[in-house]
This record gives sequence, structure tokens and C-alpha cells, in this order.
Amino acid sequence: MSEVKHILGISGGKDSAALSIYLNEKHPELDVEYYTSDTGRELDETYALIDRLESKLGKKIFKLDAVDLTNIADQNAFDHFLSMYGGYLPSSTSRWCTKKLKLDPFESYIGDTPTISYVGIRGDEDRDGYISKKQSVQSIFPFRRNIWSEDVNKLVLSNKNKDSFLSKLDKFETTSQFQLLSSQEINPNFNLKQKLNALLDIDVVLYNKIVFEMLKETDYPVGKLEYFPLVNNSDNLVRDDIFEILEKSGVGIPEYYKPLTYEVEIEGEIKKGTYSRSRSGCFFCFYQQKIEWVWLYETHNDLFLKAMEYEKAGYSWMDSETLSELALPQRIANIKKEHYLRMNRNNHARNWQDQIMDAEGEGCASCFI
Ligand code: SF4
Repeated sequence: MSEVKHILGISGGKDSAALSIYLNEKHPELDVEYYTSDTGRELDETYALIDRLESKLGKKIFKLDAVDLTNIADQNAFDHFLSMYGGYLPSSTSRWCTKKLKLDPFESYIGDTPTISYVGIRGDEDRDGYISKKQSVQSIFPFRRNIWSEDVNKLVLSNKNKDSFLSKLDKFETTSQFQLLSSQEINPNFNLKQKLNALLDIDVVLYNKIVFEMLKETDYPVGKLEYFPLVNNSDNLVRDDIFEILEKSGVGIPEYYKPLTYEVEIEGEIKKGTYSRSRSGCFFCFYQQKIEWVWLYETHNDLFLKAMEYEKAGYSWMDSETLSELALPQRIANIKKEHYLRMNRNNHARNWQDQIMDAEGEGCASCFI
């Protein structure tokens, strides 16, 4: 059996932090290497979380630098690449930052060793996250009852592999219902997702066992293992479970998630709302919402001013306005008002965890999980 590496990227967000604690407690037999891709422009709260995690896990979280900092004068990976891009700020449509600061360092870190990458996408999310283009890397999602990536499910459930699936199924005890579903072909009225969910509804562990057997006949890293404990996993962890893991472990949630109160005048009345930051990553990340920029302005003013400095080259973080326009008192009041009304629509107040969920929808799996 060739050696297989197990890795977990810590973004500084709640889900990857909780996953590291969960795997460490539930599967100590897995020798997981932890890493973090440092953009050089993270919040201090992220570095504090990483320190707390290192003490909890009793392991070093390996810091991946996108560039050899000893050879650049300004000692900052983001700034180094920004000058290579002629001052052109990244955006959701031109996300050079993720490639240069996260993905490229990740791919050179793992090299060609068969690698299992554990990803903290939760059971209440409908996305697959970043899948490396390298054949040697396989993503596993321990928080979902479907721990496998889309490509693996496609492979094992494809009609052309139906006989292989059924022959593996013969090795295990099963119900006639599982057997019947397994022999049903995918068609326009019964698509792959429906078949997958129907099988998982009956027996998650059995499905996992069959997948594991089938992967042994492929080059997927999991198939190179003699034993893979996640096969017996049928957990499905959602948002509240993640907060609970972090709180119970003593690591706590990253500080920037904690709600702070702001006041805003609406129709002559002073109202109190709460704001926080919904994501890890660079303090100037263009994915943040307007209210998060206001949070940055009011709670980390030095960082807001640094983010403004970057706009001096003529580019801006947002299409709609510059940070100096956003920082005008009337504009801040309007953003708070709009946020307050949105969070209290129909006399129903969204709590701070709901607000984080609302805001985290858009973004980059490498930076925010
Ligand atoms: S956090 Fe945002 S700005 Fe930083 S690398 Fe990720 S996408 Fe780019």
C-alpha cells in the first residue's frame, strides 16, 4: 500500500476549526496534518484562533507562505502579488488572490503524494467546495452524511458501473429495498442526486462500504487505504453543532463572529441592531457585505484605513462605491438602516447566527470554510 497523506486546511473560519477538533476527537487514529494558507492580510482574530487550535490539537498548524518572504522587501504575500498585477485589486470575477495565495501554495505543498483532504462543508450546505484538479487529491466531507465528492458519487452510481456496484453489494447484508434501488438505472425521472439520497436514506454506512470497495479499483487516494474509518460515519452536522463543538472544546468561536450592537435612527426612533464579520480571510475581502465594511470601519478602523490605501491606485474593492464614499456618515447610517430593516423584516428578528449564515452564502471555499 502506498503512503496516503491526510490533510485539513484551517481557514480561520468556524467550520474548518470545528472539523479539526471533531476529527481529532473522533478519529485520533488518522494522522492528520493541519495547514493554513497565510495571505499576510488576515485579521489578528484569525491568528489567535490558530494559536488556540494548536494548543487544543496538540499539533502544529503548518503555515503555507505563498512566496518566500525573506526575498521580498515589503514582507507581505498579498502586496507582492498585487504589484505583480500592476495594482489591480482582485474581485469575484478576477480572483487572482485565491489562486496565488491559497491554491498554488496548497498544490505545491501536497506535491504528488496521494492525499485525502478533509473539508468542513456542513450537512446544511449545498455545495462541494474546492476540488483540486490534481488526480492525487481527494476531498472528504465528514460533516455531511454524504462524505464523498460529486465526482466519486457520479462514478459509483453511473449506469455503466451498476453491475460493479451490485457485485460489491453482494458482499454485505442488505435489505430488498436497498437492493432494488441499487439496480435501478439513472434516468431523467430518477436522477443521480435522487438515487444517492434514496440510498443514503436507507443505509449511509452500507453505501459508504460499497463506495470504498469500488474505489479500491481506482487511483483515488481513499482506495489505497486498507481501512478508512469515515466509512462508518453517518453523522450529519449543521450550524448549531459547529458552534457547540467550538464552545465545548474551549477553543471558542473566532472573535470576529461575535455580535456587536450598533444604533441607528429610523423614523425618529433609535433602534439597536447587531453586526459582526461573517467570514475569515483577508480583512479587505471583496466578498464582505456593506455592513461588514461598516463593522470594519467602526471596530478595526486601522484596517479599514489600510484597505482604503489600496484604492489609491485607482481600483476599488467594490464596483458600486469606494471605501471613502462608504465611510461618509450619511452612507454608514443608510447601510445600518438597510441592514436593520432587512434583519427585522416582518417583525421577525434574525439572530446573529442566522445573520452569519445569510452572509456566508457567497464566497470562496478555500478562504472561508
Ligand atoms: S479572503 Fe478574499 S481577498 Fe483574501 S484571498 Fe480569499 S477571496 Fe481573496
